[in-house]
Amino acid sequence: MNRIGIDLGGTKIEGILLDKTGNALERKRIPTNRKNGYEYIVDNIANLIKELQGISKTDTSIGICTPGAISPHTGRIKNSNTICLIGQPLKEDIEARIACQIKMDNDANCFAIAESKLGAARGYNVVFGVIIGTGVGGGIIINGEIHHGRMSIAGEWGHHTLFPNGKQCYCGRKGCVETYISGPSLEKRWQALAGETKSLRDIIATAEQLPTNMQKHYIKWKEELVSNFGIALANVIDILDPDAIVLGGGVSNIPILYDEGIKSVYENVFSTEVDTPILKNKLGDSAGVFGAAYL
Ligand SMILES: [Zn+2]
Repeated sequence: MNRIGIDLGGTKIEGILLDKTGNALERKRIPTNRKNGYEYIVDNIANLIKELQGISKTDTSIGICTPGAISPHTGRIKNSNTICLIGQPLKEDIEARIACQIKMDNDANCFAIAESKLGAARGYNVVFGVIIGTGVGGGIIINGEIHHGRMSIAGEWGHHTLFPNGKQCYCGRKGCVETYISGPSLEKRWQALAGETKSLRDIIATAEQLPTNMQKHYIKWKEELVSNFGIALANVIDILDPDAIVLGGGVSNIPILYDEGIKSVYENVFSTEVDTPILKNKLGDSAGVFGAAYL
């Protein structure tokens, strides 16, 4: 059977048609235009699916990757940066328009399944896929299947408490991992330390050329990142002991994570024999659409 995957993003909707070995037969991108509202988005997704079904010579499975969580009780989208989706029965509404069953899951789980089937974590049984970007999320794959958990929160390490009474998180609690190592948190921290606004990319790119009076700020910023990343991920390893961890999202492009970061993780794990592979993703921004196809 061929597979259709749809990745619903804040600015674009991407669709892919894969054959049974995972080769792309067709790939399409359309703008999300979220200002046009919910019905418009549903119609566009349904039309994109129909178009890909038309191209496929055989029956297809259909999977959709969405931003935000899906309530296990109501099937409705719970939190999403595309506000018009919140509270909507997106899955049912798309199914009604195309008269087929679909699978739907969040971006962290789609990332994890994509990297485990086709990417960096291919061949590992238990995989923890990590997204560190605007937010911090994760997905757990066990023997090729997403492990959702009873409440569909499995893998949500971004809201583990790193510092009790630490920084306020949008989730209502304090000191969550996300408020320390997400992209925006790291940029805010740089501003607090160095008194200047810089993108994460520039903080890293200019680290070597910083004037002497700024170098101490960079060292502190980096030490905090390495320490927080190490403790947060070691906590996950202590519980799950995965065969491999794959990093994705904008922060995963920071080279420090793959030497000093991994060392810090290993130092914090409850074992002297830790050798968990911590890998950079292979699929990049395409993980969402491939993951959707493999739901
Ligand atoms: Zn939180």
